[in-house]
Amino acid sequence: MYYIGNHLPVSKGYAVMGEMALKLGGNTFAFFTRNPRGGKAKEIDEDDVNELLNITEENGFGKLVAHAPYTMNLCAGKEDVRKFSKEVISDDIKRMEYTPGNYYNFHPGSHVGQGAERGIEIIADVLNEVLSPGQSTIVLLETMAGKGTEVGRTFEEIKEIIDRTKLKDKLGVCLDTCHIWDGGYDIVNNLDGVINEFDQVIGLDKLYAVHFNDSKNECGSHKDRHERVGYGQIGLEAMKRVALHPALAGKPFILETPNDDEGYIREIAMFKEWMGE
Ligand code: FE
Ligand code: FE
Ligand code: ZN
Repeated sequence: MYYIGNHLPVSKGYAVMGEMALKLGGNTFAFFTRNPRGGKAKEIDEDDVNELLNITEENGFGKLVAHAPYTMNLCAGKEDVRKFSKEVISDDIKRMEYTPGNYYNFHPGSHVGQGAERGIEIIADVLNEVLSPGQSTIVLLETMAGKGTEVGRTFEEIKEIIDRTKLKDKLGVCLDTCHIWDGGYDIVNNLDGVINEFDQVIGLDKLYAVHFNDSKNECGSHKDRHERVGYGQIGLEAMKRVALHPALAGKPFILETPNDDEGYIREIAMFKEWMGE
């Protein structure tokens, strides 16, 4: 089985996202848990959520991959930003229980000059406070491009965060193809090597989801600018090899490509064709 879908706007509610995913041909999707640049989350409407749960169940959806807001930075330099960020992740983990058993992906953070080591320490400290044994959600660390002072550009940094976190079974990784490429992992010429390295450093059992994006820039550029699948520096053939790599089989693949609906319909159809549908 394979799962493909794209990032959808949450503004019209949960059920509309389910309908939208179906309309575009998907069987998973991503969404922001709240305004990506704002703070307060909308009240959850349980009827609306239940409607979505019916849609996902009836249509055999895979795990959904929620995304934390960009304003969340667990290892920010400023105390008030750190406090806000901890409140956001803690509240989001509670809200995720309305859609039980899915994934919540976040950017580990930017250390803003404190150094990656310190950043990693703080991130893990927060995770140790907010993760709980009773939660059904798996929290995912996203691999980053290494823009600015982003933590999580290397597999080693991600691994260190996991190592320092107590409830490891509640924690996983979301591999963003644009980000690892921009971060310096050459998935065009050495995909097997990169996957192997992930396995050696972190372990493939920790890989839960894929953000399936081409990149506007060259390998190692640290820019983080997504491109439509096949139109970037990674290119169609390499993207196809990623989609078909056995180590990634069955994971939810999420498109975060700059597209309109027609573009997503095309990318989802292409992915399905690769899967032999
Ligand atoms: Fe992201
Ligand atoms: Fe991403
Ligand atoms: Zn990105």
